[in-house]
Amino acid sequence: MPTRRRIAVLGSTGSIGTSTLDVIAHCSDRLELVGLSAHSNLELLAEQVARYRPRLVVLTDPETQGLASSLPPGPCKVLVGDKGVREMVSDPEVDTVVVAIVGAAGLLGTLAAVEAGKTVAVANKETLVMAGPLVMGRANECGATIVPIDSEHSAIFQLLQCGRRQDVERLVLTGSGGPFRGKKAADLENVTVEEALRHPTWRMGRKITIDSATLMNKALEIIEARWLFGMSAEQIGVVIHPESIVHSFVEFQDGSVLAQLSPPDMRLPIQYALLYPERVPGPSRRLDWAALRVLHFEPPDPETFPAIQLGYETARRGGTCGAVLNAANEAAVQRFLAGTLRFLDITRVCRAVLESHAFSAQPSLEELLALDRWARQEVENWPRG
Ligand code: MG
Repeated sequence: MPTRRRIAVLGSTGSIGTSTLDVIAHCSDRLELVGLSAHSNLELLAEQVARYRPRLVVLTDPETQGLASSLPPGPCKVLVGDKGVREMVSDPEVDTVVVAIVGAAGLLGTLAAVEAGKTVAVANKETLVMAGPLVMGRANECGATIVPIDSEHSAIFQLLQCGRRQDVERLVLTGSGGPFRGKKAADLENVTVEEALRHPTWRMGRKITIDSATLMNKALEIIEARWLFGMSAEQIGVVIHPESIVHSFVEFQDGSVLAQLSPPDMRLPIQYALLYPERVPGPSRRLDWAALRVLHFEPPDPETFPAIQLGYETARRGGTCGAVLNAANEAAVQRFLAGTLRFLDITRVCRAVLESHAFSAQPSLEELLALDRWARQEVENWPRG
């Protein structure tokens, strides 16, 4: 029996977290769950603790500390807050940390795992969007390995195993186009939350589903790819592919284009990240070649979805832009979900906040966190739409 990799999952009760536990259960001869963290869904956390018996559990919200007694009795140690996260991810008996927390909250956990020299499987794209150069630089210094879970970046990561880096000409990210593909801006004036949450191919959390409707998700992925793979903004393309079967392309200098295909099921990129570079049978769905008839590709519509342009501008300028765009977008999505901001204003308010911020080319972590707070406040102050 091979040595099992010991896994800690930050954000175990969300969509990526539960899929990660599913993969670990299916590959239990190779993977062992040793730590979990959750923020508010303590009921599901208690179920997970009872089922997987992890050695470490972190309640990231200090307010929930009193509820630790509601967890099933057993040998697990309960830790609390940011300090608890740091202790878990740097535990010598953890090999791989999965960062499955949504939004900017994933940054501190990722940095702690990176500084402990772990393999860090990052599902949280906001971390690299906010602080890509900082995180990649620290990973380099600390001997940490970052493996992406985002399906497009996993596809590119897999495809890059097929050729030399200096021979890569371009990366092409695919995107489903979301629920409003083919619409014009005028059609989207009065979009409701329910309509925006109706994603055609992927089942995901609410924040990323809204990002998929505005195409801000693709904008964030351009920035993520920029830092993760060290490519310039000009070397990253986007193509709309409504079936979500091809997860991305890599184009080489000789004109050869490689693609990675699989059904839209996050358990495959999660499994690849956890077992990299090994491939074994797992729980994810298989392509049915008898049913698969046609794959469509079309260019994105930048008039209707101006978020794409914001992604390119941010990837080009770097510095503080990613942290500001990310925070403005998170706050704007929250306001849209709460019914106090219109759909088209999500991208408008992001542009306005990005353009009015005090740019700095090589920000520290403290500066990035301060701008993150500032940008959220700016969005809060934006008039009700
Ligand atoms: Mg993605």
